[in-house]
Amino acid sequence: MKLQNPATPAPQDAEARRAIRPTICYPIDTLPQPDLAGIDVGRAGAEKIGEVLVPPRDARCVAVPAGGFFRITCTEGSQVGDLNLWNATDLKEHFFSGKTRALHGTHLSTGDRLWSRLPYLRPMATIIADTLDWYGFDAFGGSVHDVIGTRCDPYTGRLLSGSDYHYCCHSNLTRALADHTGMSLTEAEPLVHDVLNVFMCTGFTADTHQYFMKASPVRPGDYLEFMAEIDLIVGLSACPGGDCGDEHTSDKAACHPLLIEVFHNPAFTHEVPPVNAYDRSHGR
Ligand SMILES: [Zn+2]
Repeated sequence: MKLQNPATPAPQDAEARRAIRPTICYPIDTLPQPDLAGIDVGRAGAEKIGEVLVPPRDARCVAVPAGGFFRITCTEGSQVGDLNLWNATDLKEHFFSGKTRALHGTHLSTGDRLWSRLPYLRPMATIIADTLDWYGFDAFGGSVHDVIGTRCDPYTGRLLSGSDYHYCCHSNLTRALADHTGMSLTEAEPLVHDVLNVFMCTGFTADTHQYFMKASPVRPGDYLEFMAEIDLIVGLSACPGGDCGDEHTSDKAACHPLLIEVFHNPAFTHEVPPVNAYDRSHGR
């Protein structure tokens, strides 16, 4: 955190340096855009091929084929979900929340894509519907569906409170991936990664720029829907923080199930994006 009383005196041209206008790090004008209209046509002809109900303080994984669709729905009450994505045929290729944030901003909505880690760096999923798109940014700078948090985990809980809690999203996703793949917990855990915080309302405080959360505006019936760009294993944890209006890493918050539904349209042709074309010679 920045010091309230810095040790270094400001130089004479401090204000001039601060006044330099920012530029966007990664302008996305050249980024290939999803054909949302074409995807909507494919989605309209899709039929439901499966569903899984994610119990509170637990996680589940579900397979979604490339060109298929998955919808995450709030069911009984306001609830936040922590989303992981893996390439179903190569689990090393997983969601890269940091680069997704660098490309699309701190909070995602319709048209944004979830990118995979290096060296793959290709779209894994595209958001095609978001019933909370009306929220925008509130007076505190908060918004929904962030890629700025990580996932609640027992290690940070241990660090800050000295106690062990076993139903954080990190542990829930570890158990769910192990159950889905037959791997041990030890094999599954390193594959769990930073998330898309579905329905979570977050931002940075205006004064200290600390990560904050507030009660999610999500209500039963709200959903976030995606098209799978590649064959996916989708992992979702119903966070122990519930609506994340108070605290996580405990059993204190009221928690509710989240529903994942999978849809497929065999007549919809989808081109799987290739992995990133960089030649990986790294200057040698
Ligand atoms: Zn969580």
